[in-house]
Amino acid sequence: MKCPYCGESESKVIDSRPTEDGLKIRRRRECLSCQKRFTTYEIVETVPLMVIKKDRSRQAFDRQKLLNGMMRSCEKRPVSYEMLEKAVDNIEQALLNSYEREISSRYIGELAMAELKKIDEVAYVRFASVYRQFSDLNTFMDELKDMLDSRSASKQTEK
Ligand SMILES: [Zn+2]
Repeated sequence: MKCPYCGESESKVIDSRPTEDGLKIRRRRECLSCQKRFTTYEIVETVPLMVIKKDRSRQAFDRQKLLNGMMRSCEKRPVSYEMLEKAVDNIEQALLNSYEREISSRYIGELAMAELKKIDEVAYVRFASVYRQFSDLNTFMDELKDMLDSRSASKQTEK
């Protein structure tokens, strides 16, 4: 990024924020040579997240697929599309923040379960049972038990 005043190629970033459409990053820079300030608009490079599946095959992360899977768990439950979109946003953000470019499908499933748990318990149980395919039934039963325990505990405090 060359300085428009003196042509120096080194500059430091003073401030950066996404543009309103979220497609570019607006950066306020200061030239290291002449100290003049200028603004650049940089296109955000999107490196696709790769998901490693159980059989070790790789697939680009598909937001819609995740959303569909979560939606299926929420059938006939009082969960709006917006709530699920927000949950997927959270998951996507967590994945991007991890700086890993290859993520196991298991980890994504865990994140999805954590989000669903916050939204709707029934949806959570449905998703978990499909997702984990009862491969670790004991863990699953423990979680169910914890959930029911905490529910009856909160009922008791209501009395
Ligand atoms: Zn300069």
